[in-house]
Amino acid sequence: MARIVLKFGGTSVGDVERIKNVARKVEQEVKAGHQVAVVVSAMSGVTNQLVKHCTDIDKLHDAREYDAVVASGEQVTTGLLAIALQSIGIPARSWQGWQIPIVTDDTHAKARIVSIDTTELEKRMSTGEVAVVAGFQGVSPNGRIATLGRGGSDTSAVALAAALKAERCDIYTDVDGVYTTDPRIVTKARKLSRITYEEMLELASQGAKVLQTRSVEMAMNHRVRVQVLSSFEPAPGSELPGTLVVDEDEIVEKEVVSGIAYSRDEAKITLIGVADRPGVAAGIFGPLSDAAINVDMIVQNVSEDGKSTDLTFTVGKADIDRAVKVLEDNKEALNYQRIVSDPNVVKVSVIGVGMRSHAGVAQRMFRALADKGINIQVISTSEIKISVLIAEEYTELALRSLHTVYGLDAA
Ligand code: ASP
Ligand code: MG
Repeated sequence: MARIVLKFGGTSVGDVERIKNVARKVEQEVKAGHQVAVVVSAMSGVTNQLVKHCTDIDKLHDAREYDAVVASGEQVTTGLLAIALQSIGIPARSWQGWQIPIVTDDTHAKARIVSIDTTELEKRMSTGEVAVVAGFQGVSPNGRIATLGRGGSDTSAVALAAALKAERCDIYTDVDGVYTTDPRIVTKARKLSRITYEEMLELASQGAKVLQTRSVEMAMNHRVRVQVLSSFEPAPGSELPGTLVVDEDEIVEKEVVSGIAYSRDEAKITLIGVADRPGVAAGIFGPLSDAAINVDMIVQNVSEDGKSTDLTFTVGKADIDRAVKVLEDNKEALNYQRIVSDPNVVKVSVIGVGMRSHAGVAQRMFRALADKGINIQVISTSEIKISVLIAEEYTELALRSLHTVYGLDAA
């Protein structure tokens, strides 16, 4: 008898009919003899609405009260799913984060899970009761409700699976798995049957929206077997199940490139005429980090005259105005000539563990983009990833060309 965790996202619990449908899926697992915990999101659209209520009253709202408001969406779905289960004869009980408890740190609105006490849950699950757990929330050390950041119920599910030592964590969502790239843009994108934790982590953090990045980190650290699958009926002829996120040694054939992600969430800033001397980078990025602005890609050009150079970097699009302001406020101290910002960029990343053992992967990317006349503005790499920043208008063209060049196109 295995213990499993199932997680259902917002669209899967989007209305009462869908919640009844989820109850029938849970019933199947119970009938198969499993001990089941279910983690649910808020009904689709609800969290957005709750966030809006907060900002409509005050943009600078208190994070503790924001958490009190936005966590309520999940409370509703836990109760409704428990009722749906009970009504088809499956014993079930709802659990809010504080009731378990799922203890977090005190960074309200983006809290991290510190510990989960599963004693009571395990006792009840062993009697056949389904635990319906609110995703996205926990209780902070000061005893208040805390939320885990948008998309956080993936992390709740993986954390619970780790704490329960569950055999698997099935994440039901509105797509039927992880694809080589966004199938809405590249029609030849393929569903991957397996992907490594590391690749999934890069895909998620480089813009693929299937799983919250932190949930993948958590799965990797605790070796939780995660499966991404659709809660809707499979299209006729489509193969089940979804995508399994696993350890590298469970994958025999390692692709050089497994997936291509893109993100339109970044913007580019260039400081022109920056003095070329020690301490300049620290001087620039210090004030940005003090303002809690994350910097992602960075390039510094070599100066021709040894005196001044240009420095280009990216920040989140949402932070661009603040970033420019911080830099302008410090113009005198930083001693640059001009500042240029450009929000119309996209970051395209090719990802694959096979890169570690293959040469020429970056070169193929650069060649493919050059052949299409696409200019690369910034490059950054990790052991299993190459990212380039290009003009946003080339997103589709770049994704399609790279998908073909790396042999990812469906037959
Ligand atoms: N309901 C929350 C959100 O929309 C958490 C989640 O769905 O994962 O961000
Ligand atoms: Mg989600």
